[in-house]
Amino acid sequence: MFHDSLIKKSGQMWKIYTMFLGILVITVSLIFWLTYKQLNLFEAYFLLISLFLGSLCMLFGIFYIRCPYCGIHLPQYFIKNESYNLWLSTLLNCSKCPICKK
Ligand SMILES: [Zn+2]
Repeated sequence: MFHDSLIKKSGQMWKIYTMFLGILVITVSLIFWLTYKQLNLFEAYFLLISLFLGSLCMLFGIFYIRCPYCGIHLPQYFIKNESYNLWLSTLLNCSKCPICKK
């Protein structure tokens, strides 16, 4: 899976996994929040901390995945230039940087 990906070749897959972990934590936290609407103080703090850490992980992936040659932020480029449902698959499958073509 993603054998020819620029991100995998440049050793940045751990950043993708961190981003997915953040999305998973946010999703589970929101499901928890919607399921148990009356939270005690500990649960509310746990929920807020989970949402904060999940957001940090997701933003880390978006802001720190870069082209190893020219330094462009690849997720931001694909979010701007691809449709909303294709940017992630395009990011994971791109074999060359769209700017420097390396
Ligand atoms: Zn580049």
